Amino acid sequence: MEDCIFCKIVKGEIPCDKVYEDEKVLSFKDISPEAPVHVLIIPKKHITSINGLKKEDEELIGYIYNIGAKIAKELGVAEDGYRIVSNCGEDGGQTVPHIHFHLLGGRKLNWPPG
Ligand code: 5GP
Ligand code: ZN
Repeated sequence: MEDCIFCKIVKGEIPCDKVYEDEKVLSFKDISPEAPVHVLIIPKKHITSINGLKKEDEELIGYIYNIGAKIAKELGVAEDGYRIVSNCGEDGGQTVPHIHFHLLGGRKLNWPPG
């Protein structure tokens, strides 16, 4: 996707504070953190949102959660707990139309979210 900000981050055209990278996934610190630990985990492949998922993406999403668990451990929040969420669409609070998973931790998170 030519004008997708997260595709540009994947291509290195926009810098990011990288936390993890492999052939399928990139994780970097959120530019506007909402918690002491706030990283985004994204597939390198452009998928617009949860609504854009296809059958073939099922393995990728499970993979992202496993990577998220590893990152949580590395960042020291695994034991106390954390949250991995993907906002979908306007009412879901999605502002970047490239599917991404927020990993939030390092403080007590409210439930339900606002
Ligand atoms: P959403 O609101 O779509 O669920 O989440 C998008 C997230 O991306 C927001 O938390 C926002 O702070 C973050 N974000 C937007 N643009 C950039 C950027 O250029 N770099 C980084 N690191 N984070 C970004
Ligand atoms: Zn994209």
